[in-house]
Amino acid sequence: MLISAAVKKAIRYSVVQNILKHYECPVTCGAHCCIEGQIHMFEDELEVLSAYDRVKAGKITREGQAPGLYRMKAPCPFLNEAGRCEVYAKRPTVCGMYPFKVNASGNSVGLQPCPVGFLIIRDFAAWIIDSVSKSKLPGEDRAGIIDEWQKNVESYAAELAEFHTKPVLKEMQIPFDELEMLSIFLDSRKQ
Ligand code: SF4
Ligand code: SF4
Repeated sequence: MLISAAVKKAIRYSVVQNILKHYECPVTCGAHCCIEGQIHMFEDELEVLSAYDRVKAGKITREGQAPGLYRMKAPCPFLNEAGRCEVYAKRPTVCGMYPFKVNASGNSVGLQPCPVGFLIIRDFAAWIIDSVSKSKLPGEDRAGIIDEWQKNVESYAAELAEFHTKPVLKEMQIPFDELEMLSIFLDSRKQ
């Protein structure tokens, strides 16, 4: 199995895709992640991009000493003049995940407070608050969880306000099981 396919399986890539299909990037964001982002990729992904356009893939270099890991210098050369990804169907895993980000924990993913990331957190919080409100938890516990999630949304809104200028943003960690429940919830909302 290709390394990128194995990683996709481990990080619940298909669940992330199912969540992201419910959202659309606003034009006003100006493809910020493709212009400023740190795009890491595996060797098999580098080969795909090199086969597509060797000159553009020349902007991809080895990432330090990490074996088989590469990085594209920003801005990404595969972003066309219309602001669309030229290699969308074969874009690296990191691109397909964003605003979710892989972390080293092995049991969760990070979520960046970009415009789409904020909408996801807002929906995630609304779903948790609704579920907790209907639960049989003691009133004090319910109030505590609801307050925590309202604060999470406020803090994400504050980070979003600085998204285009701040180099490092606070990101939330979402455990894989909650990620899967969010995906089911979003699908159910459409029915
Ligand atoms: S994923 Fe986020 S940062 Fe990238 S274009 Fe969409 S809204 Fe902007
Ligand atoms: S490969 Fe496509 S999605 Fe990834 S950074 Fe470049 S333009 Fe954006």
